[in-house]
Amino acid sequence: MRWFLNKIFGWSSVSRLMKVGKIMLFAISLLYVTVVVYQNVFGYKMLDTINNVPSIESNNQQQRLLKHHMLNITGDIYSAYHVERTSVTATPKPTTINLSDIFITVKTTKMYHDTRLALLIKTWFQLAKEQTFFFTDADDIFYQRKTNGHLVNTNCSMGHFRKALCCKMSVEYDTFLESGKKWFCHFDDDNYVNVHKLLDLLKDYSPTVDWYLGKPSIASPLEIFIDNVESKSMHKKISFVFATGGAGFCISRALALKMMPIAGNGKFINIGDKIGLPDDVTMGYIIEYLLNVPLTIIDTFHSHLEPMEFLRKDTFKDQVSFSYGQIKNDKNILNIDGLDNISDPTRFYSLHCHLFPHLSSCSKS
Ligand code: UDP
Ligand code: MN
Repeated sequence: MRWFLNKIFGWSSVSRLMKVGKIMLFAISLLYVTVVVYQNVFGYKMLDTINNVPSIESNNQQQRLLKHHMLNITGDIYSAYHVERTSVTATPKPTTINLSDIFITVKTTKMYHDTRLALLIKTWFQLAKEQTFFFTDADDIFYQRKTNGHLVNTNCSMGHFRKALCCKMSVEYDTFLESGKKWFCHFDDDNYVNVHKLLDLLKDYSPTVDWYLGKPSIASPLEIFIDNVESKSMHKKISFVFATGGAGFCISRALALKMMPIAGNGKFINIGDKIGLPDDVTMGYIIEYLLNVPLTIIDTFHSHLEPMEFLRKDTFKDQVSFSYGQIKNDKNILNIDGLDNISDPTRFYSLHCHLFPHLSSCSKS
């Protein structure tokens, strides 16, 4: 071959050609080795970026549209939305989660210690004693002892008004951040929390992904007017969905950390003041509007804004939260046998023993 090329091109040009060839071969090998080593060390980042970004964005947009559309139709489609949402979300495989990874906060007030708080302590609190904390507005040695020191005096004002409620939520959120736990779940003191079901629910979501789980109480997104930053004289109409606090909601640690610069260290209260709306609405505003993280609707959360009697007994075990209250002149309570209405007006004792009949406090004697 070399002889043949010599004949055609002459000796010196062939030798130069061979040299160039060798150099090129060396350069190609070097490039190949570099690429292989880089991919092994740093992974296929470029490929990931190209594949992930557009799909995440289009999912968010899709989910938002879908959710708003569904909320406009009727409440019963909440579960359909849930299925749709989980099926389109590229969630990393969730890590295993234990009860000890959840930080459960319950908002209460001095006036309800002997009634609502006492009832919770005798029922579901017994199943989540380590992870549940009650946020109140006064010191109370008796209930401090009953809860093993889990009563937090927020020093917020007493009363069912916006500022006091936002103040408590702010302390609940900041205390969660300090706790280092993976999930923040808030409830009111007229909620029964089915702790096992709550844990089951959270197993489907990763705490390292932004999750806002709960249930709205209104059928369409809330529309409010806020100051328009661009033109000071104008108000801007915005809309967002919020999880009603009276049904309970959960926030993943990833999302709670993302909220920190705007809502951490008491700043939650300032945002509530700015929009002039209650704590749960403020939470929705921060998450859905400011951070653009959509609410994932969980239809197994229930507030007393829904009629409790429509919940079927054979599905009680599948629900995460329950409540009781009044709808017009009628009592809004679960339709459940067990104790009579005089000894168990909220139906929570009966529910507790329906869910956990083996408990010694539920024995028939
Ligand atoms: N609450 C409070 N301070 C009050 C009254 C109520 O912190 O002065 C709390 C109460 O403990 C509950 C929540 O606010 O966790 C909602 O109160 P309630 O159920 O009485 O009213 P709702 O808003 O559900 O109609
Ligand atoms: Mn209530």
